[in-house]
Amino acid sequence: MKVGATRPLTQVGIFLLFFIVPLLDLFRMDLNQLQFYVFRKSFSFNEAYILLLSVLLLVFFFVGISKWFGRQFCGWMCPHNTFSVYIAKITGTDKLKSSPTLRQFLNIFLSVLFAPIIAFSMVAYFFNPITLFQEIISLQWNSWAFGAYALLVLFFFVMIFKLRSNFCRNACPYGMFQMILSDKDSRPGGFKNMFRGAGLVLLIIVVSLMGLLGFSIYSSSGFSVSIDKKIQGIPTEEYLTYTYGLSIHNNYNRKVTYAIDYQGIPADWDVKVPKQISVSSSVTHSETMMFRVDKHSLNQNYSILVTIRSDDGHLIEKQLNIYPVAPK
Ligand code: SF4
Repeated sequence: MKVGATRPLTQVGIFLLFFIVPLLDLFRMDLNQLQFYVFRKSFSFNEAYILLLSVLLLVFFFVGISKWFGRQFCGWMCPHNTFSVYIAKITGTDKLKSSPTLRQFLNIFLSVLFAPIIAFSMVAYFFNPITLFQEIISLQWNSWAFGAYALLVLFFFVMIFKLRSNFCRNACPYGMFQMILSDKDSRPGGFKNMFRGAGLVLLIIVVSLMGLLGFSIYSSSGFSVSIDKKIQGIPTEEYLTYTYGLSIHNNYNRKVTYAIDYQGIPADWDVKVPKQISVSSSVTHSETMMFRVDKHSLNQNYSILVTIRSDDGHLIEKQLNIYPVAPK
């Protein structure tokens, strides 16, 4: 491939990725469901370390680019720059230069056309894109996502119509950051910078974070479990009744069946506990666990180990402590 073609292809590819990434759940959050997605796998915020690793990887990667190659991100990868360059090409033809009214009309038309699309993609990094689309077409003013979308449409309209490269010069934090980070050795094709000094340290950090992130995603259980106390020590007939809510949140994009095992329940107790629960994709399912403690079991602590195993073999263990005391 010719070098001359590499740059526009990279620019357009990364520009399209900006839109595709949230739509395909390659990386996005869902602040409504308190979930996030990395490479199409969903995680609850209980596994926030995966989100932290993803963000750290992105930060160190972009810092690394500046250190290794200087200000190349702007020219090769930045979606804002790609968009601004191509819009300038469209509106900067000789024919349009000689017709300022037509040029202004085209500027407004392109701003009105693209501001809602870019704003949609930005909000989709934090909100389910399908729900967002439904909220936009039904004009749900009371939704925060719709409010954020409306503000961003306005912002991107101004960006496309007025600011463009002025934003780079005066407001882009990454642009300023690049100037601080790059030095005399940071230049296009500066692959050697990756293997010496601070560049090597950054490379080691980026590779380590990639490894850690990959391992965390691979070893993630794909579900989370919580146990909440409900009724505690209510006398009924010959027993004291204790109930707990067992909630399982399924992060997978498919229905999952969980087998539940209990260890440490005395044989004399009357128990009603779920042994198997099926949970639909991205849903939390709750069931009640009831332990009826016989009166010979009073005044001692019982540790019950609850093991929840998903149908693909991941397991989570939770411990329950019940200390039955005689009612006064
Ligand atoms: S300065 Fe900022 S907005 Fe401008 S091209 Fe560089 S990264 Fe993109």
